[in-house]
Amino acid sequence: SGKILENQVVLVTGSSSGIGAGIAVGMGKAGAKVVVNYRSSPEGAQKVVDEIKSQGGEAIAIQGDISKEEDVQKMFSQLCEHFGTIDILINNAGLQQDANLVDMTLAQWQKVIDVNLTGQFLCTREAVKEFMRRGLVEERSRAAGKIIFISSVHEVIPWAGHSNYAASKGGIKLFMQSIAQEVARHRIRVNGIAPGAIKTPINEDAWDTPEDEAELLKLIPYKRIGVPEDVAKVAVWLASDDSDYVHGETIFVDGGMTLYPAFAEGQG
Ligand code: NAD
Repeated sequence: SGKILENQVVLVTGSSSGIGAGIAVGMGKAGAKVVVNYRSSPEGAQKVVDEIKSQGGEAIAIQGDISKEEDVQKMFSQLCEHFGTIDILINNAGLQQDANLVDMTLAQWQKVIDVNLTGQFLCTREAVKEFMRRGLVEERSRAAGKIIFISSVHEVIPWAGHSNYAASKGGIKLFMQSIAQEVARHRIRVNGIAPGAIKTPINEDAWDTPEDEAELLKLIPYKRIGVPEDVAKVAVWLASDDSDYVHGETIFVDGGMTLYPAFAEGQG
């Protein structure tokens, strides 16, 4: 049918909800065979699989905690058994454990680093090994594999009360760039997406009342809170050959949140 990701296999981590679910559905629409990874919600994952199938796509759900090495290795062997190989990895799973510095427990610090940063490392390593083992398949893509890191505007915007999260996202930025430099010679393409405020379960508190929503919109020059589909469309493009010369780049999908909105009225 000539869809942009026809016959390519994509793994989207943490895709039983939110941005990951949106990306999984978008990838399915673009013709990819989708692996919906989830940690604790088989029902959520099944809904995403069903939605992809109802649009004529192919998808399976695979359980796995991305912060655990054995789980990640098992997930990759299961997906290779089912679909043969992998072409695209979307490192999406992530979480917050908010606390002010002096109240932050080591467990809160460690949990966020383990999932948001170490989890992306573990999945990236397994994907790159498979890309290198299989090599380039020119009928499918101009790249031998593609990796997209979902970081956050907090890879550049400091965030009081969320220092563990900001540290994990800042870490993703340089991990992504270092891997991009390292694996480019294997024709593996590596990029990031930094979302701003997207309506998902992770930040419901920030938009679930009109007052909260108005407060949040002050930070968004474009005056609209994003939806998972906004991120999904960019992810599909970044995973496709249409972006074949884009490498080691982070695309901000944030309605201008990184434009220092406090200066929008030109004071001073
Ligand atoms: P979400 O909570 O709906 O999605 C996160 C998903 O990751 C959940 O499904 C969760 O179960 C899964 N997950 C958590 N720990 C996991 C683990 N150990 N193994 C496997 N899966 C695990 O929230 P979301 O907003 O969709 O977040 C997705 C990504 O986008 C995260 O990395 C988040 O930091 C990032 N992000 C979100 C926003 C936003 O405004 N929503 C902004 C910037 C970045």
